[in-house]
Amino acid sequence: MIHRCHLAILGGGCAGLSVATQLVKRGYEKPMIIVEPRREYVNDRTWSFWAEEQNEVSHLIHQRWKSWGLSEADRYVLHSGINIYYQQIRAIDFYEDALTCLKDKRNISFFRGAKARPPIKQADWVEIETDVGRIRADYVVDSRPRPSDTDTSKIWQVFSGGDVELADECLDPGSAQIMTNMVSDSLGLKFSYVLPQSPRHALVQTTRFTSTRIEPSQLDVEFKRDLKHLTKGKVHVRRWERGCLPMGQTPLNSEICSRIIPAGQANGALRPATGYGFLSIQEWALGFSEAFAAGNYDKARDLTVVQKGIMDDIFLAAFLANPSQSADWFMSIAEQLSGDEFGRFISQRVGFEIWIKIMWSLSKISFLRSICEASFNHIKWKAR
Ligand SMILES: Cc1cc2nc3c(=O)[nH]c(=O)nc-3n(C[C@H](O)[C@H](O)[C@H](O)COP(=O)(O)OP(=O)(O)OC[C@H]3O[C@@H](n4cnc5c(N)ncnc54)[C@H](O)[C@@H]3O)c2cc1C
Repeated sequence: MIHRCHLAILGGGCAGLSVATQLVKRGYEKPMIIVEPRREYVNDRTWSFWAEEQNEVSHLIHQRWKSWGLSEADRYVLHSGINIYYQQIRAIDFYEDALTCLKDKRNISFFRGAKARPPIKQADWVEIETDVGRIRADYVVDSRPRPSDTDTSKIWQVFSGGDVELADECLDPGSAQIMTNMVSDSLGLKFSYVLPQSPRHALVQTTRFTSTRIEPSQLDVEFKRDLKHLTKGKVHVRRWERGCLPMGQTPLNSEICSRIIPAGQANGALRPATGYGFLSIQEWALGFSEAFAAGNYDKARDLTVVQKGIMDDIFLAAFLANPSQSADWFMSIAEQLSGDEFGRFISQRVGFEIWIKIMWSLSKISFLRSICEASFNHIKWKAR
C-alpha cells in the first residue's frame, strides 16, 4: 500500500512533534504523516534551559529557578537571573500537549509503533519504506537518530541519574545546582546536576563530558556514590534518566536532496560546547513551520542548516587539548559572567563581546593555542 502526503515527519520526538504542532497552529492543512516507533509515550527525559519567564513553551514549565550554582573544590558561584530563569519541562507533559494538539486532525496520519527506513529521493517526490507500507511524500522532515557510522562528535555528554526522594529535608528548592562538585580527571569533566523540586525531591544526575564514548549505565555506580554527598539518610530513585549526547556533531548535508530536511539532534542541533538543544529545536520548528506553511519551501530548508560558530570550535578544541583544565574553565567563565550572560552563553545566545569576556577569564596560553587550531579547522570546515 502507498500512503501519499505532502509532508512526512520521520520521528515523533522533540523535533518531529514540535514541527507538527507548529504547522497545525499555523493552519497547515495539507496531508501530513508522522512515523514513530513508540506506541506509548513515557516520561523518558527532562528538558531544562534558560529563557525569559514568558516563552513559546511556558505553559509546559514544570518548575523554574531564579538562581543556579556551580562549584569546584572550594570555589562556588551562585548566579541570579535578572531577565531569565532556569526552567524545566517534563517530556511527558510536552508529548501529551503535542498529542492533544494533533488529535482528530483530519489531514494528519500518525503511525505509532512503526519504523521508517532512510528516505529515497525520486524525480519529484521522496519515497520511504516503513513498517506500515510505503510513503510517497513531497517533503520529508527526518529526525530519526543518526546512524553511529555518521557520528562526527568528538565529545559526548554522558549522564545517569533520575528523580530521587530523600529521607531528610536537606535540599534548597530555591536554586538549581547545574554543575556542582566539578572535577577533571583522565576521562574529562565530571559534575553533579541537582534540580530540587522540594526539600526532599530532586532530579539528580552524574554527568561527564568525555572524549571516550561510554554507556550511560556505566555511571550508575558513580551516581549512587555522589548521592551520598547529598544526604546521609535513605534515598529512593523513583525514575531513572540516562543519556549520551553528541557534542559538536556536524550537520548532515541537506543539499543531497532539497526535499529531505534533516532535523533535531541528528542534524547537529545540540549546542557543541554544552549539549543543550531543546530551545534551539523549538526555535527551528517555529521558523521552519512559518516558512513551510506559507509555501516558502526553500526558506524552510535553509533554516535547517545549523551554523556552527568559530567560538564553539574553539571551545571544543580547547576541551580536547586540555580536558584536565575544563572544571577550572567553567568556574572561571561563571565567575566572570552575570547570571543572564551565563545562561545566554550556555544557550548559544551571546554576542562577540561576551566571548571576549569569556576568553579573557580563561587560562591564556592553552586557550590561545586552541584558538589557532580551531580557527584553522573552522576555515577548513567553511571551505568544504
Ligand atoms: C535523557 C535526555 C535528557 C536531555 N535533557 C536535555 C536538557 O535538559 N536540555 C536540552 O536542551 N537538551 C536536552 N537533551 C538533548 C535534546 O534536547 C533531546 O535529545 C531532544 O529530545 C532531541 O530531539 P530530537 O527530536 O532530535 O530527538 P528525539 O526526541 O530523540 O526524537 C527522535 C525520534 O525518532 C524516533 N525514531 C527512532 N528510530 C526511528 C525510525 N527508524 N523511524 C522513525 N522514527 C524513529 C525515536 O523514537 C524518537 O521519537 C536531553 C536528551 C536526553 C536523551
